[in-house]
Amino acid sequence: MIPSIPAVLPPLQGHAQGVWLKGDWHIHSRHSTDSSNNSEAKIINFAERMGFDYLAITDHDVHVMGAVAHHTWADPDFHSASVLLFYGAELTANRGHINILSAEPYDHQRMFDARDDRDWNILKVKRELGVHMSANHPSTKNHYGFSFDLADSVEIWNTSVWPKNVPGVRIWDDMLKSGRMLGARGGSDSHHGVPDTPEQIVPLSIEASANYVGTPTTWIFARERSKRAILEALEQGRASVSSNPYNPRVEFFADSDGDGIMEMMMGDNVKPTGRPVTFEVRLVGGGIAGASYGVRVVKNRDPFGSFVTDPVTRSVRFTDTPGADERNYYRVEIEGPQAPYPDVPNSMAQSLNMVALSNPLYFNYDPDF
Ligand SMILES: [Zn+2]
Ligand SMILES: [Zn+2]
Repeated sequence: MIPSIPAVLPPLQGHAQGVWLKGDWHIHSRHSTDSSNNSEAKIINFAERMGFDYLAITDHDVHVMGAVAHHTWADPDFHSASVLLFYGAELTANRGHINILSAEPYDHQRMFDARDDRDWNILKVKRELGVHMSANHPSTKNHYGFSFDLADSVEIWNTSVWPKNVPGVRIWDDMLKSGRMLGARGGSDSHHGVPDTPEQIVPLSIEASANYVGTPTTWIFARERSKRAILEALEQGRASVSSNPYNPRVEFFADSDGDGIMEMMMGDNVKPTGRPVTFEVRLVGGGIAGASYGVRVVKNRDPFGSFVTDPVTRSVRFTDTPGADERNYYRVEIEGPQAPYPDVPNSMAQSLNMVALSNPLYFNYDPDF
């Protein structure tokens, strides 16, 4: 079976109700043996001070032979009054890394013990545990060598170093073009904290100033401020990624029925009318005052057009006519000046001029595929 063009689609849920939340989906604490000076207290205090809404501390499960419940989650520092902390770990297997994410504790040991099993058996375990699986860094060392049919989302921006992510974005585009609706996210994959004393300095301590919580930042549009709602929104693609929390958040909308209302947001999937659709890209919050940003539109994996945001409205519109009998997706990438991130000052140079990236708007995708 290949994905078919659906006859009807469920109505859109709309975007009048909801809240934008910011966080980081991929962090290693002292429970990963390749980390340094990175207690959970240090990570969580930093996130609280920066105003992050959620965090996933995803230690390498293989470093504790699967027993993350007795290490990362049992750590007396694993709590926060303001930051929503996911239960999870980085499944660290021979054919790649997967972030396992959950709103509630689950039996990670079962997942770890199945890590080298056939994908169809891993899928059974995943369903029994009710966890979210997010494919990590699909193109780097330890590339994601599992089926993307296991994945609820994919990490398309790993660490502050933008250029190494370009092949992973291509893999995401391949999955989208094949008919899969796959939510995209970022993850700092940060391992190293700022040393508290000179004696604690190790060679990789230099990374703490270049890659830490929020490089990149994933913005999630959740129906409410809860872990469950955040995971739902991530899976659906109601999300965008910015190189750091002081850069603008990109929002991407469309008026698919020509009534003048931008009823479609990222992650939404509609049946096209066959008439022109107006798309709108908005940059919200942060950024450099008065700057124009470049908007690169990708349609079905190919470049569609390049636009520049208006420095006052910080938005741009364009039109296209997605065919009534075709499957199409559109997504955008934002380039421009980096906003400084004073607490991670060397991250800006590593991200070059890549500022933000949206999830897609979908037309005629089969939700039952
Ligand atoms: Zn990894
Ligand atoms: Zn990692």
